[in-house]
Amino acid sequence: LAQAFVTLATNDSYARGAMVLGKSLRNHKTSKKLVVLIGPHVSDQARAVLHKIFDEVRLVDVLDSGDTAHLAMMKRPDLGVTFTKLHCWTLTHYSKCVFMDADTLVVSNIDELFEREELSAAPDPGWPDCFNSGVFVFRPSNETYGKLLQYCTEHGSFDGGDQGILNDFFSDWATADINKHLPFIYNMSSIAIYTYLPAFKQYGANAKVVHFLGQMKPWSYTYNPTQRRVRGSSQPGLLLQWWALYSAEVLPMLI
Ligand code: UDP
Ligand code: MN
Repeated sequence: LAQAFVTLATNDSYARGAMVLGKSLRNHKTSKKLVVLIGPHVSDQARAVLHKIFDEVRLVDVLDSGDTAHLAMMKRPDLGVTFTKLHCWTLTHYSKCVFMDADTLVVSNIDELFEREELSAAPDPGWPDCFNSGVFVFRPSNETYGKLLQYCTEHGSFDGGDQGILNDFFSDWATADINKHLPFIYNMSSIAIYTYLPAFKQYGANAKVVHFLGQMKPWSYTYNPTQRRVRGSSQPGLLLQWWALYSAEVLPMLI
């Protein structure tokens, strides 16, 4: 069975992120398959572009699915996007996958992540005994998928999203096996710039994956292509990398 990078976009904004992520993986010559899970609200135009970048574009309509995900959704409508993300465990035609949020950007080849086991992830910068669910290694399995959905409906999510559920479910991550702790450079959030600037200056250049976690996503900013500047950001360096790729390689596909 093949191995794949998997991302998720439920709307056209996150789809733009997914396009940039997919392009960044291709530009760094991944040998793995690329899969994007999409929700029913992604436009036909965005789907057409996603088809050009990804090997597989899979529509995940939790409300329409008629399976256990539908039932789970009925009980916990607040966890809509989360249920969609958990769908990645149903990709059983792959032996191993790496999930990446649509607001991540690859700046170096990361195929070595497939040497890791489920569930490998990097620490969350806000609470390092939790892993951040923006980048994680997993093994598709219908059994695990069923257990995750059941866990969701019974316990909910302590943070309202997938990260809370996944940390509860894979609860020994912090202590059981250091090999499942990915180095922070595989999920470096720009928050590190503000919380630990000397470390960012020392190690930031080694980052392999940048994660634009938080309210403001790269696509929320305005970019001036002639000046090559992002408006309204005090730390534009990482954002500029995202925008450079978006404007040079994704935007021409969208128009
Ligand atoms: N996502 C999505 N639609 C949404 C919200 C989230 O498709 O409306 C997906 C997308 O892949 C995104 C991930 O879920 O990257 C996690 O959400 P987000 O990155 O916004 O959370 P953060 O990393 O900021 O905590
Ligand atoms: Mn994210």
